[in-house]
Amino acid sequence: MKFCDHCGSMLVPDKSGKKKLVCMNCGKKIPLTGEKVVLKEDIKEKDKVEVVDAEVEVNPKVDMECPKCEHTKAYTWALQTRASDEGETRFYKCAKCGNRWRVYE
Ligand SMILES: [Zn+2]
Ligand SMILES: [Zn+2]
Repeated sequence: MKFCDHCGSMLVPDKSGKKKLVCMNCGKKIPLTGEKVVLKEDIKEKDKVEVVDAEVEVNPKVDMECPKCEHTKAYTWALQTRASDEGETRFYKCAKCGNRWRVYE
């Protein structure tokens, strides 16, 4: 059941058009659209950043302490996010235990 966002009355199917609802009270017509799932797809896009698994051993080793085993060398690489104003995300992978983490720059 849907209600008019203008006056709050119940909406009924519009007789003239198939994909419309019309307000019983004020006559406002509201197009019937499918429920959008765009939001879920956005989340999936973000998850991709998590599963990036580059051939990290070819990346430069830097002095960086692993938060897991406290080893002081880690491979590093950067990933540019699609929104350019977000800057890049820098990834690290511990050269000893393989633990991976990331730092926003
Ligand atoms: Zn209305
Ligand atoms: Zn480690």
